[in-house]
Amino acid sequence: MAEEQVSRIKKINATGAMKALMTEYFQELDRAGQDPGAKVAWCTSVGPAELLRSFGFYVYFPENHGAMLGSSRLAGDLIPAANAAGYSPDICSYLTSDIGSYLSRRTPLTPAFGMAGVPRPDLLVFNTNQCRDVKDWFGFYEREFGVPMVGIDTMRSIETVTANHLEGLIAQHRALIPTLEAVSGRKFDLDRLKAVVASSYRCTRLWKKVLRLAERRPSPITFFDGTIHMGPAVVLRGDPRAETYYETLIAELEARIAAGEGAVAGETYRFYWDGMPVWGKLREHAELFAGHGVCVTASTYCNSWIFEALGDADPFAGMARAYTELFIVRGEKYKLDYLERMVRDYGIDGVVYHDAKTCPNNSNNRYGLPERLAAKLGLPYVVINGDLNDLRLYSEEQARTQFEALVEQLREAGQPS
Ligand code: SF4
Repeated sequence: MAEEQVSRIKKINATGAMKALMTEYFQELDRAGQDPGAKVAWCTSVGPAELLRSFGFYVYFPENHGAMLGSSRLAGDLIPAANAAGYSPDICSYLTSDIGSYLSRRTPLTPAFGMAGVPRPDLLVFNTNQCRDVKDWFGFYEREFGVPMVGIDTMRSIETVTANHLEGLIAQHRALIPTLEAVSGRKFDLDRLKAVVASSYRCTRLWKKVLRLAERRPSPITFFDGTIHMGPAVVLRGDPRAETYYETLIAELEARIAAGEGAVAGETYRFYWDGMPVWGKLREHAELFAGHGVCVTASTYCNSWIFEALGDADPFAGMARAYTELFIVRGEKYKLDYLERMVRDYGIDGVVYHDAKTCPNNSNNRYGLPERLAAKLGLPYVVINGDLNDLRLYSEEQARTQFEALVEQLREAGQPS
C-alpha cells in the first residue's frame, strides 16, 4: 500500500476494459476447447492469425501464455519439468515454461479465468519468422495431441524484402488452405479473409497511434504499460473488439495529453527499451525508472505488433509482407536505421538493451549494434543481462546498478530532457 502512495506512475483507467476483453477472449477459447463443433487453432504470435480467423477458428497463442507464465512468476517452478523432458535450459524460456506448464498441469489461466487448462488444439500453425524455437515448440504438441501442424518457413536476417521473398511466402500462405479447409470443415472465403484482414489493419493503425502518442512530452504511456495493453493487438487482431478497445485507450491518452499529464510524474529522461521485457520484473522496472523521473517511452517489442502492410488490397500479399517486414526478421543494417529513427522520433536520451539469455532472436546487443548506434548518435546505453521468463538468469542488483548508471551518466552530462 505504501508503494502505491509513493509511485510516480499514473494508472490507466482503460485497464479494466482491457481485462474484461481478455477475460471474454479466454472464456470463449475455454468453451471452444470443450465443444466438438468448435475448432481451435494454436498460432505463433506473428503467424497467419487472420487466415485462421477467416475459417472460424478460435485462435490461441502459446507465446501469450508464455508471457503470463513469466509475469505470474510460475515459470521458475515449471521450467525444470521441461528440462527434465529434454528441453535445454538454454533454449527459449517461453517454450520451456509452456511445456513445463503442460507437463505439470499448472497454468495461470486457472486463477485468472477459471479455465481448467489450455484449450485443446485441433490444429497447430507456426511461422518461423521470429525463430526456429516456435516450430520445435509446436512439434511437442503435435506429438502430444496428434493433430496436424502446418506453417510458414520464413528466411531471416533480410535487409530488403524483395518480390522474390514475397512470392514464396504468398505461395506458402496459400498452401495452408487445404489443411485449414479439412480441419475447419469450411471452404475458403476470400471476402471473409479480406474482412478479417481489414479489421486487423484497423487494429494495427490504432495500436500504432497508441504508441506514437508517446512521442509527446510528457509521454502519456510507458513501455511497461504498452506490454500489458498490447494484449488485444496480439490475441484479438482481426476481431473488431480489439479496435473498440484501442479507441477507448486512445481517448484516455489524448485526454492526458490535453491536460499536460504524463504517465510518469516529473518526466525528466526518455529511454528506449530494446529486447524482451523481463516479465517477472515488469512492475519493479516500471517503478525503478519512474522513481528516477525516467519514462521508457518506446521499444522494439511493442512496435513489433504494427503491421502496416496489412493495408495491401491483396490480403495474401499483405500478410506475407506484414509478417516478413518485422524487425526480428531483418538484417543489422535495417535494424540500425530503424533504431536511429525511433531514437529521433521519440526524443530518446538513452537506450537499455536487454540481453535475454534464452532468446538470442530478440537480443540485439550481440553483434555490435549498440556500439554502432552510439557512435552514430552519441547516445549512452547499457546492456542488462537477464531473461524473459527464467529469473535464475537475471540479477536484480546488477540491473539496478546498470539502470542507475545510465541515469547518472545523463545527469553528469547535464543532458537536458
Ligand atoms: S522469439 Fe525468442 S521468446 Fe519468442 S518464441 Fe522465439 S526464442 Fe522464444
